[in-house]
Amino acid sequence: RAASGAAAAQLRQRLESELEDIRGAGTWKSERVIASRQGPHLRLAGGGGGIINFCANNYLGLSSHPEVIRAAVEALEEFGAGLSSVRFICGTQSIHKDLEDKIARFHQREDAILYASCFDANAGIFEALLTPEDAVLSDELNHASIIDGIRLCKANKYRYKHMDMQDLETKLQEAQKHRLRLVATDGAFSMDGDIAPLREICQLAQKYDALVFIDECHATGFLGPNGRGTDELLGVMDKVTIINSTLGKALGGAAGGYTTGPKPLIDLLRQRSRPYLFSNSLPPAVVGCASKALDLLMESNAIAQSMAAKTQRFRSKMTAAGFTISGKDHPICPVMLGDARLASVMAEDMLNRGIYVIGFSYPVVPKGKARIRVQISAVHSDEDIDRCVEAFTEVGRKHGALP
Ligand code: PLP
Repeated sequence: RAASGAAAAQLRQRLESELEDIRGAGTWKSERVIASRQGPHLRLAGGGGGIINFCANNYLGLSSHPEVIRAAVEALEEFGAGLSSVRFICGTQSIHKDLEDKIARFHQREDAILYASCFDANAGIFEALLTPEDAVLSDELNHASIIDGIRLCKANKYRYKHMDMQDLETKLQEAQKHRLRLVATDGAFSMDGDIAPLREICQLAQKYDALVFIDECHATGFLGPNGRGTDELLGVMDKVTIINSTLGKALGGAAGGYTTGPKPLIDLLRQRSRPYLFSNSLPPAVVGCASKALDLLMESNAIAQSMAAKTQRFRSKMTAAGFTISGKDHPICPVMLGDARLASVMAEDMLNRGIYVIGFSYPVVPKGKARIRVQISAVHSDEDIDRCVEAFTEVGRKHGALP
């Protein structure tokens, strides 16, 4: 029932005009409805099946893995639908503690704390850890949740140019006057598929006595020889102090996030971190999914390795076809097109050919740098990848992106 009254009418009018502005600016985000499980092959509601999906963060294909689903069902049956409580009142079950232990072991850190999402983990950490005496130095292209988390804290804020080590050094010098310095970066950046130069960041951190924080949402489970993440890939597991990551992408894809690092930090977050203190516990089924995903990864690195081979296949075939793919060795493969309309029309035409990809343009990425982002999963077959490259080649020729 629509609310009545002048204020409600005024609000409706204002909202409608704002929505119209978004449509007019061409930045409207519509949602396609999936009528099947998440996976490499999808059925869209109201449409046919057989869509090959290249736009999920399902890097390891665990979102619909039979063992992950079974673990969720078992946890649901044994531990119930949910806790109806925050953790510190009566919301901590043995499975939450077990999962935290497992996460800490996986990352080879002292302890871990669970959140409802990595957005929450990022929203909670800076405010709990940093005071006006401290400083945080953040890459300008860090994820929105890091930016918001930093906004919430009272530390002195420095923003360095994207992956620019000279600029980071200058900012570290300026920040020497503060008690504690924390460099915060995404391990892998989701729009460009590029990987933070963590070796250099850690060297600078050592030189200027700073701590390093990384957001590993697009790295945990698959980067590095054993899928531990960017710190393993670049050989700095002992130099990165704090890791935040998600359970909602490679690790089963359900939901949830965490911080892992030194025990006193985790203890402090349990006392002070607001999204942890004032939000419901993770549901048991979600805990079950993530826990099983970690078991699978700790048993063998085969899944992570298979994803790396598929990524290599896609990147090299697309480059040979004449496309420019941003980033390096990451399953996020942005096909750079430049023009926003071209990206949007090509993405639509790819779907007509059964390939689900998404075009990104300003303001999500800089003006003139529109792209179609392709995400590779361990469960894509070689044929899936080849069909995607063929479709790109046809559509690219049709719309003038290729000669
Ligand atoms: N950090 C990065 C880099 C992300 O890409 C995302 C998700 O889009 C998040 C944090 C938030 O993760 P979650 O979905 O667990 O809230």
